[in-house]
Amino acid sequence: MARYTGPVCRLCRREGVRLYLKGDRCTSGKCAIEKRPYPPGQRAQRRMRRRISDYGLQLREKQKLRRIYGLLERQFRRYFAEAARSAGITGETLLQLLERRLDNVVWRLGFASSRAQARELVNHGHFAVNDGRVDIPSYRVRPGASISVREKSRSIPPLVAAVAGAGARRLPPWLQIEADAMRGTIISVPTRDEIDTQVQEGLVVEYYSR
Ligand code: SF4
Repeated sequence: MARYTGPVCRLCRREGVRLYLKGDRCTSGKCAIEKRPYPPGQRAQRRMRRRISDYGLQLREKQKLRRIYGLLERQFRRYFAEAARSAGITGETLLQLLERRLDNVVWRLGFASSRAQARELVNHGHFAVNDGRVDIPSYRVRPGASISVREKSRSIPPLVAAVAGAGARRLPPWLQIEADAMRGTIISVPTRDEIDTQVQEGLVVEYYSR
């Protein structure tokens, strides 16, 4: 599946907020947004001086959410279409669908230092869902599913480093972990309160409802 491969700090600067796209490295090193707190490119900097329209606000919020989860427009639009078709609050359902991606769950459980790294590790077949190998980052996990690091992958350096560095990160209440067994369980579908993604999803819904 295609993905963005350019410099990620540029995306944070474009949105004007820290999106933590480098995961744990964002809190340990210098952040580009502090050094250069303005968007990249002269045109974007000129636009900054103008008042932002409602459409502009909606667009920026949509881009922010899409970038946090590392998706391209087509993939993201598919998630939105599915959320819009579902019963329930569209914005909340959208966030739940994004949170239930296997790469996101792997990152939340502390088996990777960023969502991007989680995606790569899943792609390389280092994880199992309910003891069966799964190498699809977009795989949707269900409540009750267990996600484990495969036996032969437990000592690979990026995983060992990620697990060592994940101690400071808070485990969300909808997940449970058995650290020694390198296994996590999905207790339930997260509610909006349990998702700490800093985004106004209502603006994203408005963007696609124009
Ligand atoms: Fe964003 Fe992290 Fe880069 Fe800061 S260091 S700009 S939070 S990716």
